[in-house]
Amino acid sequence: MQVTWRDIRAARNTYAALSAACEVAGYDLVPSDSSTGGIICYSLNSINEPRLRSEIRDAPGITIVGGPHASACYREVAEYADYVIVGEGERTLPRLLDAIRTGSSGRIPGVATKDGYTPVDHTVLLDAYPCFSRIKGYLEISRGCPHACAYCQTPRLFGNRMRHRGIDAIAASAAHISDARFVTPNALAYGSDGRRPRLDKVEALFRRLKKNRIWFGTFPSEVRPEWVTDEALDLICTYTAGRKIHFGGQSGSDRILSMIRRGHTRSDVEVAVDRAVSHGLLPIVDMIVGFPGESEEDLGMTIDLIRQITRYGKVHLHYFMPLPGTPLASSTPVQLPASAEKIFGSLALSGRLTGYWTEPERRFLNPTGDTEEI
Ligand code: SF4
Repeated sequence: MQVTWRDIRAARNTYAALSAACEVAGYDLVPSDSSTGGIICYSLNSINEPRLRSEIRDAPGITIVGGPHASACYREVAEYADYVIVGEGERTLPRLLDAIRTGSSGRIPGVATKDGYTPVDHTVLLDAYPCFSRIKGYLEISRGCPHACAYCQTPRLFGNRMRHRGIDAIAASAAHISDARFVTPNALAYGSDGRRPRLDKVEALFRRLKKNRIWFGTFPSEVRPEWVTDEALDLICTYTAGRKIHFGGQSGSDRILSMIRRGHTRSDVEVAVDRAVSHGLLPIVDMIVGFPGESEEDLGMTIDLIRQITRYGKVHLHYFMPLPGTPLASSTPVQLPASAEKIFGSLALSGRLTGYWTEPERRFLNPTGDTEEI
């Protein structure tokens, strides 16, 4: 049975992971840049969904759609797709393919159609699946997040308990690549409950991957600022190849940080920057502007923090975007004053600030119209 995977840049790592899971079940996901094939699979985020909606609706074959947007808006997506996978796909996609192949009419847990949704009956055990197989990707070491940042889809998609892939399983996948890059909501939380660090586990992982060049704490394995301790940075400096540390700061206003439930303060960000610099690492800090309710005073504090960070490191700036399935889904971003855009433009010209703070869609777009991960 031919199964096509619609090649979407934003979903390349999802393709690597699902292709490995489907391979175990006897299905080969064949990549394509169009809607060809008897069965075609899509992974949608909220940026590429409007662009791909009509393609899915008009596809000649059976369409299966998953990803963060489809999971959050499954009723809406089921209006134009045949099947919607809600949440994780490693077990659900092969189950659904089995049902289509055998003509079974039973409902599949974790799948929505126009006729309704059958709630999922499992949580994926990462060790039950390889990180990737023929299609190489990043090493996904953890899933789920106990934090509840109001703008973020991760805990809504993967749950609020951290699950980790075992070191043996990670090493088995890492043996097929030279550079080890990781996917995790907080790299320094590897092996922990996401609240209390287990740096012994992080070190054990590093030791085990001694044949790989390790990139840790940079995209796509950023960390939280309050986890940037001297001990953690010592480990990163000792075992990894990178000389950068990437973490989320998000706002310079403690009022906004509290409103978005970040669970850290501005001071945590300032301390993390100092610690990174004193370890000889370049701090790269994600910041967001335009949060709903962000006052002129809040924005001023964020600009002040951005200026402070860019004296020593870099800032990656985003304009707030309400994502479906999050507590801020129906909120309205605050428009930026021209004066702020001028400041950001000037910092960007000096190379100390990157990102997109005027048109949120552009941060997901590359010149070919494909999207980056959100
Ligand atoms: S932004 Fe990071 S820390 Fe916050 S909920 Fe999302 S994954 Fe967790």
